[in-house]
Amino acid sequence: MQHRPTLHGSQNTTARVLASGLSPINPASDGAREVLPGVYLVELPLPFALGSINVYLVRLTDGYLLVDCGMGTEDCFQALAHALEAVGARWRDIREILLTHVHPDHMGLAPRLIDLTRARLSMHAHDAEYLRELTQTDHYLAWADGVMRQAGVTNDIIAKIRGSSKEIHKHFHSLEPDRVLQGGEKIAAAVGDLEVLWTPGHSPGHVCLYGRERRVLFAGDQMLEQISPNIGWLPDRDPLGEFLDSLREMERLDVDLILPSHGAPFSGHREWIRKTISHHADRCARILALIDGRSRNAAEVVDELWERTLAPFHYRFAVFEVLAHLEYLERQGKVARVAGEPIVRWRAA
Ligand SMILES: [Zn+2]
Ligand SMILES: [Zn+2]
Repeated sequence: MQHRPTLHGSQNTTARVLASGLSPINPASDGAREVLPGVYLVELPLPFALGSINVYLVRLTDGYLLVDCGMGTEDCFQALAHALEAVGARWRDIREILLTHVHPDHMGLAPRLIDLTRARLSMHAHDAEYLRELTQTDHYLAWADGVMRQAGVTNDIIAKIRGSSKEIHKHFHSLEPDRVLQGGEKIAAAVGDLEVLWTPGHSPGHVCLYGRERRVLFAGDQMLEQISPNIGWLPDRDPLGEFLDSLREMERLDVDLILPSHGAPFSGHREWIRKTISHHADRCARILALIDGRSRNAAEVVDELWERTLAPFHYRFAVFEVLAHLEYLERQGKVARVAGEPIVRWRAA
């Protein structure tokens, strides 16, 4: 079956990013590329396979809005400083920093940038809450271990995953937003009003920005040209169902230009949405086929779905992604848990 790489499991991303015409090491020669009047794409280097992240500097009626911050590395900081200079802006000209979501490549530099800019920090209520949980590292990692144990992951693998998770968790920082977003807010930019769209799934408080006048969508990690974003399980939620619902709502918008957080700008959001919905439908069908006539735990499903051996870090994402699919199927009445076992086994309902 055709399977598109998940956001955190892709191996060919660097090549794709290079195909955008922007090198992940040396962003466009002047450091910033004006993709619309007053909207600058700034590509910042990342120290992992994803290669780079795009942050956007958007001219407001007064000063600038910065959409996402980049990772908390010196390389990211220097690349952003260089881009700012190219645009002719100073740190203090940034009036607002908006995080599409709280993953380390999007928020890592935030504390340093807030200090420099004194900008107002905006993020969605659910990601503000999620970040509070993520920054209680020991508590969070113990919880994730428990989820994986219940999913049938062996203690040996859990120990290996913990090593790589601890590294990543160093890049989460406690942040309290000055403005807590719910969705529906409008930001007056030079390209017209940008409307905050709450698009949960990849993270519970992921947001996109939509400019109706210019038919432009700042897509965060919700929509990446060649990559299907990772959708991980979270308690008391249906992340996959929420993601699919948010895509169906976005299908109604008129969009000419998608500005993603990774890779080149692209267009064709309706086609992308159709492909992505069908990717998840395929994935669900494969899971249903695997547990038809024989119950399995989530780890066994992962081993069947991914032919290649996954590095510990990617394995964790795969387990949480399969759990998100099982949760979705359970809420649809298509699968059920086998009662009374410490490791949860799933069967067709
Ligand atoms: Zn992300
Ligand atoms: Zn990202």
